[in-house]
Amino acid sequence: MKIGIVGAGHAGIAAAQEAVKSGAEVTLFSEEGFLPYYRPRITSVAFLQSGENDIFMHPKGWYLDNKITLVLGTKIVKVNTTEISLTSEHGEYYRFDKIIIATGAKPIVPPFAEALVLQGKVSPLWTIQDALTIRGKISSIKNIVVVGGGAIGIESALRALDAGLNVSIIEKAPSLMIRNLSPKASYTLSNILKTKGIKLIMNEAIEEVHEKNNGVEIETSSGGKIYAELVLLSIGGAPNTKIAGLPKLAMERGLEVDFQTKTQSPNLFAAGDAAIFKNIQPYCSALKANGQGKVAGFNAVKNDNFVEYKPSAIAVELKFKNFELHSIGFTKEENNKKEEVIEESAATYRSVTKRNDDILGIQMVGSGKDFITYKKQLKEEF
Ligand SMILES: Cc1cc2nc3c(=O)[nH]c(=O)nc-3n(C[C@H](O)[C@H](O)[C@H](O)COP(=O)(O)OP(=O)(O)OC[C@H]3O[C@@H](n4cnc5c(N)ncnc54)[C@H](O)[C@@H]3O)c2cc1C
Repeated sequence: MKIGIVGAGHAGIAAAQEAVKSGAEVTLFSEEGFLPYYRPRITSVAFLQSGENDIFMHPKGWYLDNKITLVLGTKIVKVNTTEISLTSEHGEYYRFDKIIIATGAKPIVPPFAEALVLQGKVSPLWTIQDALTIRGKISSIKNIVVVGGGAIGIESALRALDAGLNVSIIEKAPSLMIRNLSPKASYTLSNILKTKGIKLIMNEAIEEVHEKNNGVEIETSSGGKIYAELVLLSIGGAPNTKIAGLPKLAMERGLEVDFQTKTQSPNLFAAGDAAIFKNIQPYCSALKANGQGKVAGFNAVKNDNFVEYKPSAIAVELKFKNFELHSIGFTKEENNKKEEVIEESAATYRSVTKRNDDILGIQMVGSGKDFITYKKQLKEEF
């Protein structure tokens, strides 16, 4: 049984390992020229807290030892589900028995930023190459603006501060990490970041960005102006599934799969950020990608006895130096869900969200005290 996997991220690697375990011959394609790496750790590479070699998942020899043919620097541009084949951008053609799409997501780059991204004044932080480009600039700049106050934006801001930069976050929502934290938890998070010296510009959209000196000047919706040599875009991602031969809708929104990670085509599976599950809110997560990849790798080799992916609650964990944040499950009050505060101070906020006696969510900002104990009691709903 020959399995072709497109994308060597968290889902692709997990799928490859599982398929090999079941006796398949696996070829794993990556358009990136680097050994597969832990994507969440690229922020530490960008801001000098680790080197690129520290974040590779496995050394080169591991792929040989595990009989996985790793094809780096090769973008797959065409999938043929009838012939069960893949074609690379260089015209190489490969035949398989099953194909797994694990192409992840792409960072959202708003139109105002496109030209400036090319000049290196605005940058997403999504790949190891982005991280290395940012790292190359750090020593020659003073000011960075992070656009987006989600978990990745906040981690980037903390690490940039640690690297000695003046840091501002621009967020168009009224509170930080609005998807993961209740307003009170988010308020404490803002306090902590401000105390550390990070400037927060909340509730404001970006109206204009133009070049100034060695950097750019950003004009926000209230008319405020802020200068930075580097603007980091951290406004989320969208499934990266624009490959010829995939259904049009899948190219736009991601590949819809069932809980066995099967698509509409019997020989095509999908996992990770590229896959969309019916009635489940999409959320970029390495943990989820890993779980789905295992299921896809296992099922692609079988003709029956398929296993199912068991979804888990949305979870965020952020630890850097003396900063700690956890959020899992439902964290906001709504209908019959009530937030119960465990501890609240200027620098700490811990609460659980309950429906009657059931804990449906936990959030902890500034301290992770007893998080594991509460997590054991969590009733996961999606
Ligand atoms: C800065 C950052 C921090 C993050 N932090 C966290 C965190 O703390 N916790 C967490 O759970 N998640 C985090 N995430 C999200 C997590 O990294 C992703 O959800 C996860 O990597 C998804 O895994 P994947 O295998 O689906 O896709 P990816 O890891 O994105 O891998 C997909 C791979 O496929 C390749 N590819 C795409 N198209 C093609 C093609 N046509 N041909 C060949 N190769 C192709 C891509 O280049 C890429 O290497 C973070 C993401 C970023 C960017």
